[in-house]
Amino acid sequence: MGLLDDVVKGVGDGIKTVGEGFNKIQNKTQETMQSMNLENRLRALEAKKSVALTNLGKLVYDKYEKGDEVGEDVLKRKVGEVVEIEKEIDMAKTELNTIKEQNSPDVSQSTKAENRAGYARTPGFVCPHCQAPANQEKLFCAFCGGELKSKKNGGSESSHSSEGSEAPPEGS
Ligand SMILES: [Zn+2]
Repeated sequence: MGLLDDVVKGVGDGIKTVGEGFNKIQNKTQETMQSMNLENRLRALEAKKSVALTNLGKLVYDKYEKGDEVGEDVLKRKVGEVVEIEKEIDMAKTELNTIKEQNSPDVSQSTKAENRAGYARTPGFVCPHCQAPANQEKLFCAFCGGELKSKKNGGSESSHSSEGSEAPPEGS
């Protein structure tokens, strides 16, 4: 009988502890969501990088071991893809650090405010997902972790689809 009492009491204490923890969790929810979004993104990017590297390795293997015709340009493009992914990984890591810094108590309010805006916000530019002020140069929103880079920005960075639809260079 005593055992059951102990168990009931233990469960009760446990629930109390969980309840106290839950309040802290609620306060942490928003920043945790941001971090989690970014961490998920990071994981996805790391996985993408692994796949890209594996594909690249297979191409090199086929080229040298099986004597397949694999052009230098194809290999270079694959390497370029990996480099792009690495850039995105770096950006996501920077964003994650920003969020962590934001939540650190020994960072000044103004620094936090700047960080929230993505260091320096781009005037008139807001996150397309949550409408928070954002920096156009950044890949991800500091608030919601959403992607800022629109596919049709027509900027200097030529968007390359992964489906190798690059136009061949003209002229001979
Ligand atoms: Zn956002």
